[in-house]
Amino acid sequence: MKSSNLGYPRIGENREWKKALEAYWAGSLTESDFQDKMTNIRLANLQKQKDLGIEWIPVNDFTLYDQMLDTAVMFGLVPKRYSDYTGGKVPLSIYYSMARGNQHEVAAEMTKWFNTNYHYIVPEFEDSQLELLENKPLAAYREAKKQLGIEGKPVLIGPYTFIKLSKGYNKKDFPSIILRLLPLYKQILQELEQEGVQWIQIDEPILVTSLAKEEMKTITYLYEQLQLAAPSLHIMLQTYFDGAEWYEELIKLPVQGIGLDFVYDNGRNLQSLKQFGFPKDKILGVGVIDGENIWRADLPAKIKLLSTISGFVSKDNLWIQPSSSLLHVPVTTDNETLLPSEIKKAMAFADQKLEEISILTKGLNEGINSVRVQLDAQQSALTKLANSETRNNLVVQKQAEAAQSRSYSRHLPFKERYQKQQEIFKLPLLPTTTIGSFPQTAEVKKARSHFKRNEWTASEYESFINEEIKNWIQIQEDIGLDVFVHGEFERTDMVEYFGERLGGFVFLKNGWVQSYGSRCVKPPVISGDVDFLEPMTVRESVYAQQLTDKPVKGMLTGPATILNWSFVRNDIPKKDVCYQLGLALQKEVIALESAGITMIQVDEPALREGLPLKVSDRQEYLDWAVSSFLITTATVQDTTQIHTHMCYCDFNSFMDVVSLLDADVISIETSRSHGELASVFEEKTYEKGIGLGVYDIHSPRIPSVDEMFRMIEKGIQVLDKNQFWVNPDCGLKTRGIPETIGSLKNMVEAARKVRQQF
Ligand code: GLN
Ligand code: ZN
Repeated sequence: MKSSNLGYPRIGENREWKKALEAYWAGSLTESDFQDKMTNIRLANLQKQKDLGIEWIPVNDFTLYDQMLDTAVMFGLVPKRYSDYTGGKVPLSIYYSMARGNQHEVAAEMTKWFNTNYHYIVPEFEDSQLELLENKPLAAYREAKKQLGIEGKPVLIGPYTFIKLSKGYNKKDFPSIILRLLPLYKQILQELEQEGVQWIQIDEPILVTSLAKEEMKTITYLYEQLQLAAPSLHIMLQTYFDGAEWYEELIKLPVQGIGLDFVYDNGRNLQSLKQFGFPKDKILGVGVIDGENIWRADLPAKIKLLSTISGFVSKDNLWIQPSSSLLHVPVTTDNETLLPSEIKKAMAFADQKLEEISILTKGLNEGINSVRVQLDAQQSALTKLANSETRNNLVVQKQAEAAQSRSYSRHLPFKERYQKQQEIFKLPLLPTTTIGSFPQTAEVKKARSHFKRNEWTASEYESFINEEIKNWIQIQEDIGLDVFVHGEFERTDMVEYFGERLGGFVFLKNGWVQSYGSRCVKPPVISGDVDFLEPMTVRESVYAQQLTDKPVKGMLTGPATILNWSFVRNDIPKKDVCYQLGLALQKEVIALESAGITMIQVDEPALREGLPLKVSDRQEYLDWAVSSFLITTATVQDTTQIHTHMCYCDFNSFMDVVSLLDADVISIETSRSHGELASVFEEKTYEKGIGLGVYDIHSPRIPSVDEMFRMIEKGIQVLDKNQFWVNPDCGLKTRGIPETIGSLKNMVEAARKVRQQF
């Protein structure tokens, strides 16, 4: 057996990569100094993998921004609107214009990479000539060989995945796009073959999504062509993030290796392997180490799995690998000096995962006894965590179990309770409100850091927050909004804030992962049973409410969003964790309600992010995600108004789910797609309160009264005016104060103007 890796985090142990990128953008690094730094980081990453004993080390997984963008510019796919581009190898300035926009042109679209929190730049096909402007995999291969003596395995995004994730063409143009692109792929492979490259890893994660059978025919054609182009180059066709969709066809493709994910496949790949076998002349890349989560593997269980697999594939033909690129996990646990040791010892980031791969490979090649010490150490770390207090909160576990078998719903149907609520709130037609946060100015951030560094006492910090709340309650009065918020000044982040106050969470010191470009995130870790300890938001909400007669919405982050934006323990199903979160938040809802808060918003912007890749798995996820939301919200009185918020607008495919959440009012980001929505509501009816965002909060621009007036008019053409709310697209945290006030004033004025017509 051989050890192999699919991709290594590019950001560096201390985010050196991010810092260099930002210094270059800021003009404090010259291009050549920047390139030198990048080369050093790239080589250091390769050397580390070599030192950790990995035999097949990926090259060309490194990038100066994003691997999809790299592939696009390699093919000359630069949209014409970046008019400074005059042809030839794409210069860094154009590359970064596409990634981040420039003075004249906005950036290219960015979107989520399958079901991860990584975002890629969406390639755009136009009618221009395609040409291979550089062979990046070849350059990466040469560099690794020359500088470090590494016989690398170049990584390339496969043609089918690349085209499917691109835009700028119609379905009927698909064949012609393939014909334009295929010669370029062939050329890359031929040049690699000539160089003497042994293996190339071609990533086709699209193969785990629900593809139609005829698509598999196209894929077969593509790989036949690639094989003919470079017959002596070995192709490892790599899939990840779930089980292969057309396994039987996949294993017949003319490639020399197939890489499968045995972690996130719900057992599908093993089942296919048992059912259809595996060709004797191919290598199987066995993804047994979890590439997306941060926990150590149960190595004896992995050895057992590998033994089962070796009943179908000869041991000589197995490569032991992570389930996906390690891009999605932090670099190393070495710097996590603040974690409780029982938790730290049970964690594995990229480097520790590569160690695990080496241990497994050695154990299977040389016998278990050769790695007994490591297996025992790992086992005892996992056992310790399993037996720890944080994972054995029996009260929470019992409650969550009981909650699973109950069904939660509001006492009265929507129409009746909404009417009761209206009798109390007496809101005008088209009530105006905001999504929750107000500008987090430099002052607010400074106050928080004073408090964190113990330069301010808790009461000093509290009075600062109170002043902000008070100030913004007055501003909301002046603007004339109907439903207020407290402004979320006490929160850095909508998930972290709750994680820090609930039991069962820990936080990493250096656990950064790339989200997009130079932006890295440090997700909270749900390491134990999630427990409500004490009210988390009541103080600020009550303080705000007592300053005004207008209703102030309590403001919480929903269970699915907390789950999907955290690293989650993997010893119990995600569903169980979500129920625990739902219950903990229910206690917060009850606390708010008992403190006199009569409107409570539970944000679920990431509900959709947890959606499984396979269509057949989606219902189950939605069932428990929706149930958890109901656990949190459904116990309130009829007169307590539940709001929710989501940041996306493809309401078309999501309306049924939204409706099941049974929130009295939902606000959604829609200002950029109001036109499309009209047709949605013509087809389906949505009867609850709804605010279709009337302005885009991503820009400092102040929209005019007229503009928003027209937006509202459009909204009430398709929805009943009695259910329509008026609000911005999302929270205003990233905006400046003057533009926030200016925009909201215009928004309120626009709503008034529309009201006058009735
Ligand atoms: N209440 C949050 C805010 O206003 C919602 C943020 C979000 O939807 N991402 O910031
Ligand atoms: Zn939002």
